[in-house]
Amino acid sequence: MTWLRKAKEGLKAQQRRRELPDGLWTKCEDCGEILYHKELERNLWTCSKCSYHFRISARSYVKILVDDDSFVERFSEVVSTDPLKFRDAKRYSDRLKKAREETGLSEAVLCGEGRIEGHPCVLAIMDFAFLGGSLASAAGERIARCILLAIETRHPLLILSSSGGARMFEGILSLMQMAKTNSLLARLSDAGVPYISIMTHPTTGGVTASFASVGDVILAEPKALIGFAGPRVIKQTINQELPEGFQRSEFLLQKGMIDRIVHRTELKKTVAWLLRFFAAGASLPQKPRRRAGESLQRFRAASLPIGTALPPAPPAPDAEAPGLAAGVPTIEVPEPSPNGAAAAASKPSAPAPTAKPSAPAPTAKASAPASSAKASAKPPARPTVREVRVEE
Ligand SMILES: [Zn+2]
Repeated sequence: MTWLRKAKEGLKAQQRRRELPDGLWTKCEDCGEILYHKELERNLWTCSKCSYHFRISARSYVKILVDDDSFVERFSEVVSTDPLKFRDAKRYSDRLKKAREETGLSEAVLCGEGRIEGHPCVLAIMDFAFLGGSLASAAGERIARCILLAIETRHPLLILSSSGGARMFEGILSLMQMAKTNSLLARLSDAGVPYISIMTHPTTGGVTASFASVGDVILAEPKALIGFAGPRVIKQTINQELPEGFQRSEFLLQKGMIDRIVHRTELKKTVAWLLRFFAAGASLPQKPRRRAGESLQRFRAASLPIGTALPPAPPAPDAEAPGLAAGVPTIEVPEPSPNGAAAAASKPSAPAPTAKPSAPAPTAKASAPASSAKASAKPPARPTVREVRVEE
């Protein structure tokens, strides 16, 4: 029987050699396909058979998305300080130290400015490898500063989320970041600066419940887990069977929570297309935004069915809020740029584009000296940016 045992051992050895990646091969976590490392890298870490998206680092996303050598890291000096001196099985400060060593990042979000196919933008990219991509006070502060930077430069904002939620080691200070980032995003929206949110696997908890879900355009990677609470908790709470594919991006696309599922190899092209679209939009004459409540009030005053109601009359030129001046007859189209307004800001003689909420009435614009036109061109939240800078 010795020969039989030998044959068996021989077979085992062969099988083992096939499974051993030895740094050259990686097994797909979804379909089990053995993938050649170089090919995997060429496919931007997605399976060529089932298009499973491997989790990658924030710096890898920078390489994939941003034009070569155009990325400049910002706000890396903002770091967590362990304000609660938290300790469970390990000290929180030790966990932070380990995560910093392992990822080469100082916080769970990598921020900076860069260009995507030539379009400048402000980026915040979360890294799941850093304590589960958790949102803590420093991560939230970095995102908040990115939003302020986007308001100041009028460059579109791009946030790529990959997170398990708020960081429990900082308690309420983590949860506060949800309100902080979203209130600033409301200002970004008022300023008319576009915000693209990209959700990757997984985007859960406080990140889904705050900035990741409020993008002007929300993209997601295929099969990404996106949700607030986990499926097991929901099942226990509502005591019902959950539908198939629940909380996956394909399911959420059907339900209208996200706008498009984008394969990683198409991500840069898609984002660049969106940036071009927004840039073209910003260079067109635009009506200043009205507050939703005021628009509703006007519709009620007209007392006609909304479908047939005439558009509300523009307010008198001496109305208190100059931002509400509608019906802009002649507008000089600013030079095409991702925001339209940045080009105008660099040219003091150019009239303020009406895309801004603080744009003056057309009659005032014609006679106003160049200096006052430039002053009114400032986005409303600019002083806040200055305040933050002083603190640094
Ligand atoms: Zn696969």
